[in-house]
Amino acid sequence: MHAGAPLIVLQPLGAALPPAELDAVSGALTAFYAVQLVIAPPLELPKRAFYAKRQRYRAEKLLEYLVAQGRPDARVVLGLTSVDISTTKAPHEDWGILGLATLDGRSAVLSSFRCKRAAQSTAHARVRFAKTAVHELGHSFGLDHCPTPGCIMHDGEGSVLTTDTEHDLCQGTRTRLTAIGVMKPGAVSPFAR
Ligand SMILES: [Zn+2]
Ligand SMILES: [Zn+2]
Repeated sequence: MHAGAPLIVLQPLGAALPPAELDAVSGALTAFYAVQLVIAPPLELPKRAFYAKRQRYRAEKLLEYLVAQGRPDARVVLGLTSVDISTTKAPHEDWGILGLATLDGRSAVLSSFRCKRAAQSTAHARVRFAKTAVHELGHSFGLDHCPTPGCIMHDGEGSVLTTDTEHDLCQGTRTRLTAIGVMKPGAVSPFAR
Protein backbone atom coordinates (compact mmCIF):
# COMPACT_ATOMS: atom_id res chain seq x y z
CA MET A 1 0.00 0.00 0.00
CA HIS A 2 1.15 3.53 -0.76
CA ALA A 3 -0.14 6.39 1.35
CA GLY A 4 -1.88 8.86 -0.95
CA ALA A 5 -1.81 6.43 -3.88
CA PRO A 6 -5.03 6.40 -5.92
CA LEU A 7 -7.71 4.03 -4.66
CA ILE A 8 -8.76 1.38 -7.17
CA VAL A 9 -11.86 -0.64 -6.31
CA LEU A 10 -12.21 -4.10 -7.85
CA GLN A 11 -15.94 -4.55 -8.21
CA PRO A 12 -17.22 -8.06 -9.04
CA LEU A 13 -20.43 -7.94 -11.10
CA GLY A 14 -22.84 -10.88 -11.20
CA ALA A 15 -21.81 -14.46 -10.42
CA ALA A 16 -18.77 -14.77 -8.14
CA LEU A 17 -15.43 -14.95 -9.91
CA PRO A 18 -12.94 -17.68 -8.98
CA PRO A 19 -10.63 -16.34 -6.24
CA ALA A 20 -7.64 -17.19 -8.48
CA GLU A 21 -8.94 -14.71 -11.08
CA LEU A 22 -9.24 -11.93 -8.49
CA ASP A 23 -5.75 -12.77 -7.25
CA ALA A 24 -4.33 -12.66 -10.77
CA VAL A 25 -5.88 -9.23 -11.43
CA SER A 26 -4.78 -7.84 -8.03
CA GLY A 27 -1.27 -9.21 -8.49
CA ALA A 28 -0.86 -7.76 -11.98
CA LEU A 29 -2.22 -4.32 -11.07
CA THR A 30 -0.04 -3.97 -7.97
CA ALA A 31 3.00 -5.24 -9.91
CA PHE A 32 2.78 -2.29 -12.33
CA TYR A 33 0.83 0.48 -10.61
CA ALA A 34 1.41 2.47 -7.43
CA VAL A 35 -2.19 2.19 -6.26
CA GLN A 36 -4.22 1.08 -3.26
CA LEU A 37 -6.52 -1.82 -4.16
CA VAL A 38 -9.65 -2.91 -2.41
CA ILE A 39 -12.09 -5.63 -3.42
CA ALA A 40 -15.72 -4.60 -2.98
CA PRO A 41 -18.59 -7.01 -2.22
CA PRO A 42 -20.21 -8.27 -5.45
CA LEU A 43 -22.99 -6.30 -7.13
CA GLU A 44 -25.77 -7.65 -9.32
CA LEU A 45 -25.50 -7.01 -13.05
CA PRO A 46 -27.93 -4.17 -13.89
CA LYS A 47 -30.87 -5.37 -16.00
CA ARG A 48 -30.84 -2.16 -18.01
CA ALA A 49 -27.42 -3.07 -19.41
CA PHE A 50 -28.66 -6.40 -20.81
CA TYR A 51 -28.85 -6.55 -24.59
CA ALA A 52 -31.48 -9.23 -25.15
CA LYS A 53 -30.91 -9.54 -28.90
CA ARG A 54 -27.38 -10.88 -28.33
CA GLN A 55 -27.83 -12.14 -24.76
CA ARG A 56 -24.97 -10.07 -23.38
CA TYR A 57 -24.29 -6.86 -21.48
CA ARG A 58 -23.51 -3.43 -22.90
CA ALA A 59 -20.20 -2.31 -21.46
CA GLU A 60 -20.83 1.46 -21.65
CA LYS A 61 -23.95 0.98 -19.50
CA LEU A 62 -21.90 -1.03 -17.02
CA LEU A 63 -19.41 1.88 -16.86
CA GLU A 64 -22.21 4.29 -15.89
CA TYR A 65 -23.51 1.83 -13.32
CA LEU A 66 -20.06 1.36 -11.77
CA VAL A 67 -19.64 5.12 -11.29
CA ALA A 68 -23.13 5.39 -9.78
CA GLN A 69 -22.78 2.38 -7.46
CA GLY A 70 -19.09 2.37 -6.70
CA ARG A 71 -17.32 4.01 -3.79
CA PRO A 72 -17.19 7.79 -4.27
CA ASP A 73 -13.60 7.94 -3.00
CA ALA A 74 -12.36 5.57 -5.73
CA ARG A 75 -10.15 6.98 -8.48
CA VAL A 76 -11.35 4.05 -10.61
CA VAL A 77 -14.02 1.41 -10.04
CA LEU A 78 -12.94 -1.61 -12.08
CA GLY A 79 -15.84 -3.97 -12.77
CA LEU A 80 -15.01 -7.67 -13.20
CA THR A 81 -17.46 -10.11 -14.70
CA SER A 82 -17.66 -13.52 -16.36
CA VAL A 83 -20.55 -12.59 -18.68
CA ASP A 84 -19.93 -11.52 -22.26
CA ILE A 85 -19.85 -7.75 -22.77
CA SER A 86 -20.12 -5.62 -25.90
CA THR A 87 -20.18 -2.09 -27.18
CA THR A 88 -20.59 -0.23 -30.48
CA LYS A 89 -17.43 -0.32 -32.59
CA ALA A 90 -18.10 1.03 -36.06
CA PRO A 91 -19.26 -0.51 -38.31
CA HIS A 92 -20.52 -3.02 -35.73
CA GLU A 93 -23.52 -2.02 -33.66
CA ASP A 94 -22.81 -4.62 -31.00
CA TRP A 95 -19.24 -5.88 -30.84
CA GLY A 96 -18.02 -8.33 -28.18
CA ILE A 97 -15.06 -7.04 -26.19
CA LEU A 98 -12.61 -8.04 -23.44
CA GLY A 99 -12.89 -4.75 -21.61
CA LEU A 100 -13.81 -1.08 -21.84
CA ALA A 101 -12.69 2.04 -20.01
CA THR A 102 -13.37 5.73 -20.31
CA LEU A 103 -10.14 7.61 -21.09
CA ASP A 104 -9.08 9.30 -17.85
CA GLY A 105 -12.41 8.18 -16.44
CA ARG A 106 -13.72 6.82 -13.17
CA SER A 107 -14.77 3.34 -14.29
CA ALA A 108 -13.61 0.41 -16.37
CA VAL A 109 -15.00 -3.08 -16.92
CA LEU A 110 -13.39 -6.43 -17.80
CA SER A 111 -14.92 -9.72 -18.85
CA SER A 112 -13.28 -13.12 -18.52
CA PHE A 113 -15.67 -14.53 -21.16
CA ARG A 114 -13.47 -14.00 -24.25
CA CYS A 115 -10.27 -14.69 -22.30
CA LYS A 116 -11.38 -18.33 -22.15
CA ARG A 117 -11.69 -18.62 -25.95
CA ALA A 118 -9.16 -21.11 -27.32
CA ALA A 119 -7.21 -20.82 -24.06
CA GLN A 120 -4.75 -23.63 -23.39
CA SER A 121 -5.81 -23.82 -19.73
CA THR A 122 -7.66 -21.92 -17.03
CA ALA A 123 -4.27 -20.48 -15.98
CA HIS A 124 -3.77 -19.15 -19.53
CA ALA A 125 -7.23 -17.54 -19.51
CA ARG A 126 -6.44 -15.96 -16.13
CA VAL A 127 -3.22 -14.41 -17.48
CA ARG A 128 -5.18 -12.89 -20.37
CA PHE A 129 -7.74 -11.50 -17.91
CA ALA A 130 -4.99 -9.95 -15.75
CA LYS A 131 -3.32 -8.36 -18.81
CA THR A 132 -6.69 -6.90 -19.81
CA ALA A 133 -6.96 -5.35 -16.33
CA VAL A 134 -3.54 -3.66 -16.71
CA HIS A 135 -4.57 -2.43 -20.20
CA GLU A 136 -7.94 -0.98 -19.18
CA LEU A 137 -6.58 0.69 -16.04
CA GLY A 138 -3.95 2.34 -18.27
CA HIS A 139 -6.86 3.91 -20.21
CA SER A 140 -8.46 4.98 -16.91
CA PHE A 141 -5.23 6.80 -16.08
CA GLY A 142 -5.47 8.67 -19.40
CA LEU A 143 -3.27 6.57 -21.68
CA ASP A 144 -4.29 5.95 -25.27
CA HIS A 145 -3.07 2.91 -27.20
CA CYS A 146 0.69 2.44 -27.53
CA PRO A 147 2.20 1.87 -31.00
CA THR A 148 4.86 -0.53 -29.65
CA PRO A 149 4.00 -4.16 -30.47
CA GLY A 150 4.25 -6.37 -27.40
CA CYS A 151 3.33 -3.54 -25.01
CA ILE A 152 0.27 -4.30 -22.90
CA MET A 153 -1.13 -0.88 -23.98
CA HIS A 154 -0.94 -1.91 -27.66
CA ASP A 155 -4.34 -1.98 -29.41
CA GLY A 156 -5.80 -5.45 -29.12
CA GLU A 157 -8.05 -4.82 -32.17
CA GLY A 158 -10.71 -6.76 -30.30
CA SER A 159 -8.88 -10.10 -30.44
CA VAL A 160 -7.93 -11.96 -27.29
CA LEU A 161 -5.00 -13.49 -29.20
CA THR A 162 -3.21 -10.12 -29.08
CA THR A 163 -2.88 -10.44 -25.31
CA ASP A 164 -0.77 -13.57 -25.87
CA THR A 165 1.91 -11.46 -27.61
CA GLU A 166 2.07 -8.85 -24.83
CA HIS A 167 4.28 -9.41 -21.80
CA ASP A 168 5.18 -6.01 -20.35
CA LEU A 169 4.63 -2.25 -20.51
CA CYS A 170 7.20 -0.68 -22.85
CA GLN A 171 9.56 2.07 -21.69
CA GLY A 172 7.51 4.81 -23.41
CA THR A 173 4.34 3.71 -21.65
CA ARG A 174 6.20 3.44 -18.32
CA THR A 175 7.49 7.00 -18.77
CA ARG A 176 3.98 8.30 -19.42
CA LEU A 177 2.60 6.49 -16.36
CA THR A 178 5.48 7.80 -14.25
CA ALA A 179 4.60 11.36 -15.32
CA ILE A 180 1.01 10.75 -14.21
CA GLY A 181 2.36 9.45 -10.88
CA VAL A 182 0.91 5.93 -10.99
CA MET A 183 3.85 3.82 -12.21
CA LYS A 184 5.52 1.63 -9.63
CA PRO A 185 9.26 2.39 -9.83
CA GLY A 186 11.24 -0.59 -11.12
CA ALA A 187 8.09 -2.60 -11.77
CA VAL A 188 8.80 -6.19 -12.80
CA SER A 189 6.19 -7.67 -15.11
CA PRO A 190 4.56 -10.83 -13.76
CA PHE A 191 4.12 -11.81 -17.43
CA ALA A 192 7.76 -11.50 -18.49
CA ARG A 193 9.22 -14.67 -20.00
ZN1 LIG B 1 -7.51 -0.40 -25.33
ZN1 LIG C 1 3.86 0.94 -24.66
